[in-house]
Amino acid sequence: MYELVIRIALDEHRDERQEVDTRIGRVLAIREQAQYLLAGPPNAVGEVVYTCAVPADTISWLVEQLDPRGDALVAAVAIADQFVLTLPLSYGDHHPEMASVSIGEHGRIPCCRRFLVSSDAPGIDTLAVHAGERRPGPEGSVVFPIYQGTVYSVEPGTDYHDIQYIRLNSTPSQKYLHDKLAALEGAEAAVATASGMAAVTTVLHSLLRAGDHLLAGECLYGGTHEFLTQHAEDLGWSYTFVDPQRPETWQAARTPHTRAFLVETISNPLMRVPRLREVVTFARQEGLTTVIDNTFASPVNLRPLAVGFDLCFHSATKYLGGHSDLVAGSVAGSAELIGRIRRTLNHYGGSLDPHAGFLLARSLKTLGLRVRAQNDNAMELARLLDGRPEITEVNYPGLPSHPDHPHAAELLSGFGGMLSLRLGGGTAAAEALLEALRIPYVAPSLGGVETLITRPATTSHAGMSSRDREHLGITDDLVRLSCGIENPEDLAADFEQALHKV
Ligand code: PLP
Repeated sequence: MYELVIRIALDEHRDERQEVDTRIGRVLAIREQAQYLLAGPPNAVGEVVYTCAVPADTISWLVEQLDPRGDALVAAVAIADQFVLTLPLSYGDHHPEMASVSIGEHGRIPCCRRFLVSSDAPGIDTLAVHAGERRPGPEGSVVFPIYQGTVYSVEPGTDYHDIQYIRLNSTPSQKYLHDKLAALEGAEAAVATASGMAAVTTVLHSLLRAGDHLLAGECLYGGTHEFLTQHAEDLGWSYTFVDPQRPETWQAARTPHTRAFLVETISNPLMRVPRLREVVTFARQEGLTTVIDNTFASPVNLRPLAVGFDLCFHSATKYLGGHSDLVAGSVAGSAELIGRIRRTLNHYGGSLDPHAGFLLARSLKTLGLRVRAQNDNAMELARLLDGRPEITEVNYPGLPSHPDHPHAAELLSGFGGMLSLRLGGGTAAAEALLEALRIPYVAPSLGGVETLITRPATTSHAGMSSRDREHLGITDDLVRLSCGIENPEDLAADFEQALHKV
């Protein structure tokens, strides 16, 4: 049995009461005939929610009734034992036939959308392939096409944010991608952005106003760190970097103006795993919004919303894209928070281009396969390198020697494809290793199918002052590896031959 949640988004800028009543009326008409649904009262400003317990086959049937053309106006996402149907405010405008289609008359429905429903929550690979897919797709297409058009017909009186326009993140291609991203994170809603930096800056602009304060993990991605250190003051925000491993220090850093707590699932480049459960507990107690950059883990290794985080974002340029050929970001969370974030994104203009969105949706289908291969390669290399005399330190949370191994093992389904190391010969030996390896590309970035190797002090963290880098242990001799999906024995052989040359 699922708890069925029907959400009907309201628009705060419109007098929508009557319109919403009409739409609820349609849902209730279905309810009366279905005999399954028990309507509840509106539960929040901005949305009306109906909940009831229904078996799985009733949900697929209901989706068919609500979305007979399969053009995805109804977003349907299974989250554990909850099934969320989201109906946009414009639902009835696009489905005038729903006013007359009677639920008993299945024969009159021109084509039925089949939606993935199982009695258990689907696995991540099934979701990656099927979630968000329109069945049948436009013109029967199995692959959702690129809607290149910038704009679509509008009904008079349509709210600005409901207009289908690329910069407003509302075209068919964008909604399709959002549904897939949300399902992968186990979220009610998601939005794609033009880059990972667009994701983090849009989230912060949505949560913080002038005078507000942010708690942030001290070893953030260099770009996020630089954004805060170079722009926060101008925006009227203050922030304090805290050690995300030491919950006992957080209270002292909190101020009456603190609004949010930002951390990363696995930090770059030392692969530290913060005390994520404690972050959630602390933030709930203090009334803060929790935000996590899940780029390094991907939803295959951790779904932070299930741990209790409010918002989870990615540089989709990395594992989600996975082929080093697109720039994108994503943010997932509750429908209410994502609604706020989408509006901010609409105003700042960081929407995702349709071609990049198509590549991203295509890549998401193989996310699980890629990330598991990357996890395995990283684990094998970490073990191999840990035992080598030339190497003095291997940072990988999958190794029992890693300081965060116990809680990482409890939190993560896999330890990720990233590791870092130091050589006894210092920076010169690090450079020699980069030179001697044949398979990895010497390049920053991460998460692609090809193995990449870099010295973070000269790339991802070059924008940080050398004092800050020293403080965080990002020394010049540190080498970072993003494992690809090559055969593990080939990577091992390459490291063997290269280590003889350092
Ligand atoms: N977050 C993390 C952890 C990253 O590694 C990066 C980029 O390397 C970003 C955010 C920014 O992403 P993008 O380059 O897609 O803007």
